[in-house]
Amino acid sequence: MLSPIKSILLSINRPTIYEQVKYLSQVLPQLSADKYNVKRKAFASIQAQDVDYFKSVLGEERVLTEQSDILPFNIDWIKNCRGQSSIVLKPKTTQEVSNILSYCNKRKLAVCPQGGNTGLVGGSVPVFDEIVINFMLMNKVISLDDVSGALICEAGCILENLDNHVREHGLIMPLDLGAKGTCHIGGNVSTNAGGIRLLRYGNLHGSILGVEAVKADGTVIDCLKALKKDNTGYHLKHLFIGSEGTLGLVTKVAIHCPVKPKAVTVGFFGVENFNSILKLYKSAKSSLGEILSAFEMADNQAISTTSTNLKLPNPISDYPFYVLVETQGSNEIHDEEKLTKFLSKEMESGLILDGTVTSELTKMSAIWTLRESISGAGLGRGYVFKYDVSLPQQNYYDLVPILRERLGDKAIAVYGYGHVGDGNIHINITVPEYSKQIASLMEPFIFEEVSKLKGSISAEHGIGFRKPEYLHYSKDETALQMMRDLKNLMDPNGILNPYKVLPEVNV
Ligand code: FAD
Repeated sequence: MLSPIKSILLSINRPTIYEQVKYLSQVLPQLSADKYNVKRKAFASIQAQDVDYFKSVLGEERVLTEQSDILPFNIDWIKNCRGQSSIVLKPKTTQEVSNILSYCNKRKLAVCPQGGNTGLVGGSVPVFDEIVINFMLMNKVISLDDVSGALICEAGCILENLDNHVREHGLIMPLDLGAKGTCHIGGNVSTNAGGIRLLRYGNLHGSILGVEAVKADGTVIDCLKALKKDNTGYHLKHLFIGSEGTLGLVTKVAIHCPVKPKAVTVGFFGVENFNSILKLYKSAKSSLGEILSAFEMADNQAISTTSTNLKLPNPISDYPFYVLVETQGSNEIHDEEKLTKFLSKEMESGLILDGTVTSELTKMSAIWTLRESISGAGLGRGYVFKYDVSLPQQNYYDLVPILRERLGDKAIAVYGYGHVGDGNIHINITVPEYSKQIASLMEPFIFEEVSKLKGSISAEHGIGFRKPEYLHYSKDETALQMMRDLKNLMDPNGILNPYKVLPEVNV
C-alpha cells in the first residue's frame, strides 16, 4: 500500500487544447445560440457582486473575466459550438465547488462544468452565458493501492498523466482514448468514455469504484468507496457516470486499475471487405482468447486521409479496409507467436491480404498513432460532421456506403472507423463548410436509420448540446420521463449544464 496522500501536481507538457482552440476560434465566429436557434432560459445574469463573491471563494487569479482569456473555454474541440460565457472559475477543492454551486443555485445562475474540453457533442462549452467551472486545477492523485489496484484522484487529472503514474506501480488505467493527453478523468466519468480498451476491461460502470460529486444545491455526495463489492442500497455513483454534468459535478473518482500487461503485441492487416472483418473478428476471439485487447477497423478513406493530411506512414500498402488487433498478455514470445500464427492462418484463408505484427514499442506506437489520429485528421480540410453510433455487428458498416451515395460530391470524404468489438462505428463526413442544408441531409436521416437497425445514436460521445432532439430515437417516452424526473429531483432549478442531454428541462 502506498502512502495515503501522494499529492502530485500533474502538468500538461504539450500545446494545450486551449491554445489550439484559440487559433480555431478565428474560423468560428458564429454563436451556437444563433447557429442552432436556441432561446435563453430564464436564468439570472451575472452581476458585479457575483464576481466579487467568486473572488472571495477562489481568489482573484482563479476567476477569469477577460474576454481573451475566456474565449478558448467557450469553444469546443471540433470548432462547432461557441458559447458566450463571461466568466470561468477554476476551483481547487470540493468545498470550493460546493460553495460555488450553493451560491449559483440560490441566485439561479446557470453553470457549465468543463474538463479537458475534448467532448465531441458540444456538452463542455456554454450555449449562452453559463458560468464555466473548469476542473483543471483539481489534479491531485490522492492514493493508489497497488494491491487492489484502486486509484483515488481528483476529477481534473489528465487521463494520460494518470496512466503514466499508475504504470510506475505496475498498473494501467482501464480506459484509453485518442484524447488521453488532454481529457480529464472527471470528463471521462461524466461521459462514460469508452475508447480502445473497452473490449478487454469493460466500461466505466464496471471500473469506477466510487465517486464524490456535488449536487446543484452544493450538497457533497460522498460515494467515494474503493470497494469492488458494495450492495448497500441504490448504486448512486452510476447517476454521475455518463450524465454529462447535468445531475452533479464530479469532484473525485475511485477507479480500478488492472495490472500492466508484461507483453503487448500489435497487428495491422489489410482486408478486402467488411464481411472479411467480421469473420476475422470471430476468428481472433477464438484464436487469441483472453489476450485479445483491441479489435479496431478503419476503411481506406479513413487511413488514407489521416496518412496524407497528417503525414503519418501507413505500415502496409493500400487496401479497402484495415484491421488493428492488439493483444495484452504475460508472455511476449508466446503472445507474438500467437498473433503471427493468426496472421499466417488468415493470410492463407484469404481473409487477410497483407499485414504486419510487432512488439516493438516505436512500431506499435506508430500504428496506434495512425489509428488514433483519424478522429482529427479531417479538421484542417473543412467542417467535419461526426457520428458515433452503436449497431449490431452485422450492420456495422451499412451506413457508410449509404451516406456516400446520399451526399455525392457535396462531401469531400465520408469514412468509417471504430471499435468493431463493441459494435461502435465512428462516421466522419468532411464537407467544405458547415451549412444547414448539408446538415439536413444527414440529420435526422442517420438517427432514423440507426433506430431502424436497433442501434444507439450515441455509443460513447454522449448527447451533449448537439443531440437532445434526437434522443427519442434511442430512448422511449417512459425512459425520457424518468430522466426528467431525476433531473428535477437533483437539480430543480435546472442550473447544471442547461440545453444539454434532455430535450426539455423545466426551469
Ligand atoms: P469535456 O469535454 O470537458 O466534457 C464532456 C462532458 O462532461 C460535458 O458535458 C461536461 O459538462 C461534462 N464534464 C466534464 N467534467 C465534468 C465534471 N468534473 N463533472 C461533471 N461534468 C463534467 N470519447 C470516447 O468515449 N472514446 C474515444 O475513443 C474517444 N476518442 C476521442 C478522440 C479525440 C481525438 C477526441 C478529441 C475526443 C475523443 N473522445 C472519445 C471524446 C472525449 O475525449 C471524451 O468524451 C472524454 O471523456 C471527454 O473528457 P473531457 O475531460 O475532455 O470532458
